[in-house]
Formats: sequence, structure tokens, C-alpha cells
Amino acid sequence: MTSPTSGSSTASSSHTRMFERAVLVHYHEIGLKGRNRAKFERMLLDNIAASLTDIPEARVEKISSRLLVRFDVSERVFDIAEIDRITERVAMQPGVAYAAPVFISSKIEHDMNAAALLALREAGAGDSFRIEARRSNTSHPISSLDMNIAIGQHVVDETGLAVNLGKPEITVWIEVVQGESYIFSRKFPGSGGLPVGSGGKVISLLSSGIDSPVASWRLLKRGAVVVGLHFSGRPQTDDRSEHNVAQIGEVLQRYGGVGRIYFVPFGDLQREISLMCPPDLRVLLYRRLMIRVAEVVAKREGALALVTGESLGQVASQTLENIRAVDDAATLPILRPLIGMDKVEIIRDAERIGTFEISIQDHTDCCTLFMPRRPSTRASIKEVVDGEAELDMERMISDAIESMTWRDYACPAYRKPKG
Ligand code: ATP
Ligand code: MG
Repeated sequence: MTSPTSGSSTASSSHTRMFERAVLVHYHEIGLKGRNRAKFERMLLDNIAASLTDIPEARVEKISSRLLVRFDVSERVFDIAEIDRITERVAMQPGVAYAAPVFISSKIEHDMNAAALLALREAGAGDSFRIEARRSNTSHPISSLDMNIAIGQHVVDETGLAVNLGKPEITVWIEVVQGESYIFSRKFPGSGGLPVGSGGKVISLLSSGIDSPVASWRLLKRGAVVVGLHFSGRPQTDDRSEHNVAQIGEVLQRYGGVGRIYFVPFGDLQREISLMCPPDLRVLLYRRLMIRVAEVVAKREGALALVTGESLGQVASQTLENIRAVDDAATLPILRPLIGMDKVEIIRDAERIGTFEISIQDHTDCCTLFMPRRPSTRASIKEVVDGEAELDMERMISDAIESMTWRDYACPAYRKPKG
């Protein structure tokens, strides 16, 4: 018989049977949350399920302190590359400590032996290994230590590899949970943090630069639903920054944490400020107006804090004096998750998250519009308050709100504002 599937049937017959594949999900911090735990697990489950809506065969279920993504194999069989891609995607969800592509086996030693060998092969080349078994409860009659010894011996007999308990090249993990065991040799590190939805809602001032997407990610990783707010230079500039921010939203959407991004054409308002106010205060006054607009959006959205990507001293405008002058325009707390980070650390995060390439694309930053030659780095609150005295602030805020558009993203924890 020479059918195109003959290769795979040989592979399965060499170890008597095929094992169902799944993605095993471990979380950590959720375990600390006492009576909120069930709610948190539910959120993580919903977020993972939402990240897999394009894979109708995938089904997420809760099994003793873990989640498991199963695949309906009556529909089609998933190859390892596909399982890996799905595992990676699951690992990105905040709250996940790690995700692992597993073989599902019965609790019968013969099956576990066969699955352990398959898992071992998946780890690639290596001369030494160890088995690390654990039972989620003690109803399984064989102790973890006895499983390590018995299955380890089988692997030695079949492969000739050496056991190394201290520093093995390959570890095969075996988790016996209720009626099944999950056997794997690769762990994909997760985002960590807490499931999106557990931390309330924030309004994140999202430029198309490198920093603010990282700041947004830090908040969504702590369980907050992020609503982005971007100010573009339109109509004084083109709309490229808006496109970039929309793309940044698509990247952040993979982490399940962005509900919506608002876009405000800010060019005319900046022009107004530049005509009416002292040149050295312009940047601060733009920022103070952005904060006031953000507060209106926060009120509509029911958000309790604002987020920016500022880092102390990173640019001349991010001095403590200027930070204080910006805070003075706010009533809500302004969270600055990057305040103590160096640019190299922020760039490393941006690369890891996947926003860096978008942030360095060409765009016209509205902040460089009508930029003064010497922006103030030491503005006092009195100076900025006096500096904006001539502005019709209420009208400017409502102009911004009225011209605002938005785009929604897939985020199961996001609740749209009413009306
Ligand atoms: P980023 O890399 O995030 O653009 P930056 O290093 O350019 O930051 P600033 O221009 O001082 O620094 O901006 C500080 C913060 O103010 C940004 O991180 C962002 O949160 C907010 N911000 C600046 N410009 C905009 C904008 N056009 N739209 C929305 N938020 C903005
Ligand atoms: Mg910027």
C-alpha cells in the first residue's frame, strides 16, 4: 500500500497506539487568591477559549487546578506544528504560568510508558533524562517515586539513555489527574500575571511610540482591561499614527486585554494651544488636555485609572516637575508602569510582546507638531495653570470627544459603555 498516510500509520503502530493531544495549562497566582479563585479560573478559561475561536475543534475545560485544551479529533488530527502554535497562543494569555503540549494517556503503566517515549522524542536530541511524575491526589495507587522508577526503567530499556536526576537534558513530566495522565517534555513559558478581567478597567494613553504599548501590556498582564486612547495630528497631519496604533491594538488583542481603542484627531486643538499659549509650555499643555479628555472617556467607560508610558528622565519632558504638572490636570490616578525602567528594558519588552516593529514604523507623532524650540523641563503648576488661562478648555474637551472614533477588539472581559 502506498497511500500518503502510510508514514504516519507506521509511526503510530511502532508504539501500538496513537495518543490524543491536548494543551495543559498551569497558572500560579490564581492559586493565591482564596475565595476569588473559582472566579479567576473562570476568567482565564473564558479568555483562553476566546483566543481559540478560530479553532472550532478546541474545547477548554477545568481539571483540578489546571486547564486543559482538548481537540475534537473526530474532526481532524492536529500535527505537532499546529499544536505548538496553539500552545504558544495559549501561553500568551495573562495568568498562564506555562502551557505544555501533552499526550493524554490512561493511567495504565503500559500506556504511560508508550506516551513517555513519544514525549521524550518530541524533546529532540539528548543523552540523559529524568521522569518527573506527580499525582494530583493520592487515589492513584502508585506513588510518584514508583512511577519515576518504573517508567524511567522502561525508557532506559527502550532507548539506552542515561538517567540523570540532577541536570538531565530532557525531562518528561507526568501528571496523573483524575482518570487520565498528561505526559509532556516541553513547557512554553506563559505571560504570568493575572487573567484579564480580574483587575478592572483602565484608559491607556496610547501613542504609536515604543513605550505606551508596553505600559498597556504591563497593565493587562496584571488583569486590567485596557481601553486605548490615541491622539493623532489629524487634520494637520496624515492618519498614519492611527493606523499604527490600530495595528498595535491587534498585537495586544492576542493577549486578550484590549477592548477598544479611541482615536481623537488632535491637530487643530494643538494648533489652538500653540497660538494662544507660551511656546515652552506647549507640550505640557497638550498633555494636560489629553488627560482631561481621557478623564471624560474614563467616566463613560467606568474606568478608574489612566495609564501612560512615561519613564523618569527618559526625555527632557519627563521630569518630576513635568509629571507633577500633568498629574495636576487629573482627578484619577495616573499609572506609569514604566517609570523606573530603562529604555533598553522597555525595548526588550516591546520586542517580546511584538509591538516594537510597529512602533518604529514611520509616522507623524502629534507631539512633534508645533514643537517649541526649547520645551520647559521645570514647569511649576502655577506657570501651566496661568499658561492655559486663555483657553476655552470646556469647548476644547467637547470638540475632542465629539470628533472621536473608535475600534473594538476581541476581549471577552470588556464591557462596552452604556448608551
Ligand atoms: P511613547 O514611546 O509611548 O510615545 P514617549 O517616549 O514618546 O512615549 P512622550 O512623548 O513624553 O514619551 O509621551 C509620554 C506618554 O504620553 C506616552 O507614553 C503616552 O502614554 C502619552 N502620549 C504621548 N503622546 C500621545 C498620543 N499622541 N496619544 C496618546 N497618548 C500619548
Ligand atoms: Mg511618543
